[in-house]
Amino acid sequence: MRKRKRGKNRSGTILLTLCARCAQQFYDSGEHIIRRADPDQMVKDTCCYCGQRQGWDYEIKNRVKRSGEGGESL
Ligand SMILES: [Zn+2]
Repeated sequence: MRKRKRGKNRSGTILLTLCARCAQQFYDSGEHIIRRADPDQMVKDTCCYCGQRQGWDYEIKNRVKRSGEGGESL
């Protein structure tokens, strides 16, 4: 198993491996800021959303701020 680091880090950004379809869900939702975590990534990994297709690592951040949850601070 050679998985990349993922999970929550500071500023509420989540690192996920997403296939194109699942990534599109985040784009379409409008509630998340999503971008490639590593534009130089050469090897696709299993999508951790559907667990079937292959995709890239993405950084996903909630656009909506919820007070009292997570404690995001600049
Ligand atoms: Zn997927």
